[in-house]
Formats: sequence, C-alpha cells, structure tokens
Amino acid sequence: MNYIDNILSGLKVSSPAQQEFYQAVEEVLRSLAPVLETNKHYQQHSIIQRIVEPERQIIFRIPWVDDGGVVQVNKGYRIEFNSALGPYKGGLRFHPSVNASVVKFLGFEQIFKNALTGLPIGAAKGGANFDPKGKSDREIMAFCQSFMTELYRHVGPNTDVPAGDIGVGAREIGYLFGQYKRLTGRYEGVLTGKGLLWGGSLVRKEATGYGTVYFADCMLNDRGENLQGQTCLVSGAGNVAIYAMEKLYQLGATPIGCCDSTGTLYHENGLDLTLIKTLKEQKRESLANYLNTHTSATFTPVDDYPEGRHALWQYTADAAFPCATQNEINKNDAQGLVANGCKLVSEGANMASTQDAVECFIDSGIAYGPGKAANAGGVATSQLEMAQNASMQRWSFEKVDNQLQGISKSIYQQASDTAKDFGEPNNLVLGANIAAFKRVADAMIEQGVV
Ligand code: GLU
Repeated sequence: MNYIDNILSGLKVSSPAQQEFYQAVEEVLRSLAPVLETNKHYQQHSIIQRIVEPERQIIFRIPWVDDGGVVQVNKGYRIEFNSALGPYKGGLRFHPSVNASVVKFLGFEQIFKNALTGLPIGAAKGGANFDPKGKSDREIMAFCQSFMTELYRHVGPNTDVPAGDIGVGAREIGYLFGQYKRLTGRYEGVLTGKGLLWGGSLVRKEATGYGTVYFADCMLNDRGENLQGQTCLVSGAGNVAIYAMEKLYQLGATPIGCCDSTGTLYHENGLDLTLIKTLKEQKRESLANYLNTHTSATFTPVDDYPEGRHALWQYTADAAFPCATQNEINKNDAQGLVANGCKLVSEGANMASTQDAVECFIDSGIAYGPGKAANAGGVATSQLEMAQNASMQRWSFEKVDNQLQGISKSIYQQASDTAKDFGEPNNLVLGANIAAFKRVADAMIEQGVV
C-alpha cells in the first residue's frame, strides 16, 4: 500500500462513516501525488497526516423553544481545521443534512480555497442540523441566539470569523451578531456577511455568484471565447445562484434554467431574475409560482425527476453553474451535459460534482472549474469585509468588486499555471489543489510542530 492509500485507510478507522469527508480528502490527496513524490520534506514533516486532522472540533447542543412552546434540540458544530495562514474563516450551514462528515468535508475544502485567495485566512466550517424552512422569524432568532450562546466563547475577529452558507443569510447573521454583542459587550468584526447598515461590506452578498462567473470568464478567455451569447443552467435559487445569474446577464449570457428544493424551472427565453428575486429573497416561496407570471416556462417537481438524474442537467446549454450543494452532478448528469455540447462547468457550490463526474469533465476536455477555485470569491470578499472592519473604513462597490475580479483572475492563473507545470493543462483540480497545498504546507513547516 502506498503512502496516500495508507493515510486514507487510517482516516476511515479514526473517523468512521464520514463519506463526504473521505471524498473531499481523497480528491485532494490523489492530485498531490506528483508533489509528494518530488518534495520528500512534506512527508518528513508529516504534513498530510496533520492537514487531514482538524485542529479543533467543537460539537454542542442547541436547545430552543418553538412557537408552540415546545423545547427543540439541534446539534451544532464548529470545526476549526487549519490556522496556518490566518484566523479560522468559513461559513455556517443550517440544513437538516448537516452532520460531522459534511462539516468536515466543507472545512477541509476551505483550507485550500482560502489559501488560493492569497489572503491571510485560515479555515473552518460550522453549522447545525436545523431546518430554517417554514420557521417563523421569532423561531429563527431563538435558534440563532442559542447557537451563539455556545459559539461566542470560541470565536472572535482574530481567532475565528464565521459567515453564511446554505440556510444562513443576512437575517441569521444579524441575530447571531446581536447575541455575540450582548454576551461579550464587544462590537467587532466577528462575523462577515453583516448588514450594510452595521459593518457589512458592499458586494459581499453578490460575491460568491459573481466570483464563480468571473472565474468562468477567465476559463473561456483562455480558450479564445467569452460569455457573450452563451446559454446557461444555474442550479439553486439561493444567494449564490441568484447573483451568478445576475452577473451572467451583465456579461451578455442567458440563464435559462435553475432549481430549488421543490423542483426545476426552465425558461427558454431567459429567466426573469427580478421575479426570481421576489419569490426567493422576499416571499421565500417555491419556484413553481414563477409559472403564475410566465406560462411559457416549465416546472418539473422533484418527485418527477428521471431516475438517477437531476432534471436541470438534462437541458441543452453552453455552460453549467452548479450553485446548490455537494454531489449535485453525478456521472449520468455529467455525461448528459457533455453529450449535449456543454463546454464549461464552473462550481458555485462546494464539491458540486461526484468524483466520476469530475473525471468525465476533465477527460472530455471541457473547461471545468472546481468549487474550491471557482467559488472562492465569497470568502475572499469576506476577508475584504474583515479588512474594512479592522481599519474602520467602508469601501465603495467598485473598489470591492475590482478586488474580487482581481482575486478571481489570480486564482484562475495560479491553478492554470500549476496545471501546466505538472503537464496537465486542462486539469484545474490538480492545479488548484497543488498551488493551495504548497502555500499551506510551507507555512505549517515554518511554524513548527503545532
Ligand atoms: N460559505 C462560504 C464559503 O464556503 C463563505 C465563507 C466565508 O465568507 O467565510 O466559502
């Protein structure tokens, strides 16, 4: 058994039954093989063994009272994975699917994503198996206050700075911040994604979606193309998907399909983004209601999806932007997209494609941007929010957006140059993983055995 296989099988014993976590680790470790082969000092310092083990895992009880007066209990997590490059940084996810495996895979991905931004941020992830869907504002507030009542002792502007993710937006960040301030008496940049009235940064809300599209544009430019006139499928209807669609329209592309947890929406003329924003951001309603305004659109409920496929990826389009969740593109979906002429996939979600789907994209020669490179614009803009908070400044939309564009380009360049250096120019998975790994690993060595 070789070095990497040994570490992977050791992980299955020390962290049993964590499928998503193994998947994320395996993808990274396999692509590091050429570096580990030629740079023996990484093995001498046991960097791989150290990088796959979180520095600290906090798991806690979240009791709260629902509107019926019943005490509910959820499970909360904050996994502080790696602080070689800066204070822990990464989002909080509130979703029923959250468990230790999911938070660990996300925290592990965050190490490499944050390193690629070139900014001084370490990596963490957290969340709870709480379902915000259908909850009243008061219930959301009660839950967030209880969550922060445990979390506040572990976070701070120079130690660990959480942000949003699935199920955690401006409303939740507001309630979390209010409780942190009440418990500590400190008004400081402990969270990012804050409201614009009280310390938030312009462009943060749009950043993950915009960044994913900027990254796609870089991939196309390198192939002598651009987004003008391209039809696009964008999964999700949350923050990432909505602002990916907005940027696609601004760059002359046409989003024609998206989806939410209730089903898939297809509108050949181009999706009405104003209506989608009203349905999802204001009313928190199903995309099915889009058809009340646009009768020529099609809506496929999740129960009617074809066996083993996602309805969205069956449509023909030039580009796909998975912006919903992990493993939302499987091998069948990937083969279908490629067969229909899709020439670009840029991941707004983390680990959006299964391993065999990723192989399908790379082998077919289409442009494929893995999440940790393509969606790093969100966390990068969070760091710009931290910089504004720390210096008591407020930057203009243009200034933040220009920096976001610059960072997206630089991430693409690093991943692409590294992929070329290792003889696989079309493999941005390899390029991104190696470029990020070297930065973190070298910092870890310089900081000693800690
Ligand atoms: N949850 C987002 C991510 O995965 C944002 C994290 C942050 O802004 O800290 O990168």
